[in-house]
Amino acid sequence: METPVFRAQSAPMRWQDVELAEYKRAEEAPFRDVTRQVLFDHPMLSCQLRYFEVAPGGHTTLERHEHVHAVVIARGCGRCLIGDRLYDLAEHDLVHVPPLTWHQFQADEHAPLGFLCMVNTVRDRPQLPTAADLTQLRANPLVAAFIAQTTAGSPAPLPVNQAP
Ligand code: MN
Repeated sequence: METPVFRAQSAPMRWQDVELAEYKRAEEAPFRDVTRQVLFDHPMLSCQLRYFEVAPGGHTTLERHEHVHAVVIARGCGRCLIGDRLYDLAEHDLVHVPPLTWHQFQADEHAPLGFLCMVNTVRDRPQLPTAADLTQLRANPLVAAFIAQTTAGSPAPLPVNQAP
């Protein structure tokens, strides 16, 4: 479809003729209560601009990849993990996710977290953490607490006496 020159905001953080989609296919990766809208995607642009919204208490997938993200917090508040550090997020904060860096966005329990995210149109697929990656991430107690609720279904580290 030809990209319309103008699309008005039709409701808070919704736009005319922009489909409200699932963040990812549910079986693809763990996440909770996230929607995706692709705002700009054109063959003459080598990037896409998307708007994601994480509902209160929800979170994006803990993942990493070669491609980078340029993120602008647009609505609400929450926290994110970038590498081995946590950041509090408020409206209009900027987050750069470097290549091959673990990242996850979580909304506050009582507020959504909406953000604009720019990515290359051609990009590699996200990698999910292995058991070894999770063990490494959990070495930092703050990070362990942050990802605890979101990696419940992921492989837990083996007790030392059962390690292969
Ligand atoms: Mn990502």
